[in-house]
Amino acid sequence: MRAPVLAANWKLNHGPTEAAAFLRAFCGRYAPRDDRTVMFFPSALAFAAAREAAAGRADLRFGVQNVAAHDRGAFTGENSAAIARDAGATCVLVGHSERRHVFGETDAETAEKCALAAAHELDPVLCVGEKLDERERGETERVVLRQLRAGIRRLTAQQRARLVIAYEPVWAIGTGRNATPADAAAVHAVVRAELRAEGVPDAVPILYGGSVKPDNAPALLAADGVDGLLVGGASLDVESWLAVVGAR
Ligand code: PEP
Repeated sequence: MRAPVLAANWKLNHGPTEAAAFLRAFCGRYAPRDDRTVMFFPSALAFAAAREAAAGRADLRFGVQNVAAHDRGAFTGENSAAIARDAGATCVLVGHSERRHVFGETDAETAEKCALAAAHELDPVLCVGEKLDERERGETERVVLRQLRAGIRRLTAQQRARLVIAYEPVWAIGTGRNATPADAAAVHAVVRAELRAEGVPDAVPILYGGSVKPDNAPALLAADGVDGLLVGGASLDVESWLAVVGAR
């Protein structure tokens, strides 16, 4: 069994002051555990403060929510994988549904970001998931596999072994409507089969994300093939995040 990965996506919340206060409170109440991995994805501007507030906690991983699809140059406002790595990030969310559907990120850009992240030794947390209309048309598998194949296509075997995959049905993100454990298990099985077909080792975890809360986290984590959780709203409050990371 893979040790669960619990990842907090803070989106556009928690500036440096709040992020530092959160981490100080969290570290005071969460002792390192070797049976799970906890990751934080603060905003880029809060990244340093969050990491500094958790100084000495090598058990916690810090990543960024996005990187540019370019290595360097005239791209005002962007952050590159190299800059994120230099700032201390070890992982990056790639292809989050808000990047895809709010900012119009394409599969080609997601592929480029995964390749740049891996080249700069940032582990890509590749997010895939279908929209509600796609699910209703029976296209879940087709959409998820298209996004997955695009994201991993350019990675070497060694880089693929560093991946984390997050299945996040778009209709479940921030809506309060989570997938059932059975819904999640069904898609995770499809993702795992494709990863195996692509030679990706079974040690690569597949997380579920979408309206995870302290009360549904244990059942979702117990679902077949669910190796962890990617959490937005419920990761913003210390109490609820402690409850989620303590699940199972
Ligand atoms: C997310 O941002 O990846 C997410 C799953 O959000 P929420 O938990 O709020 O649905």
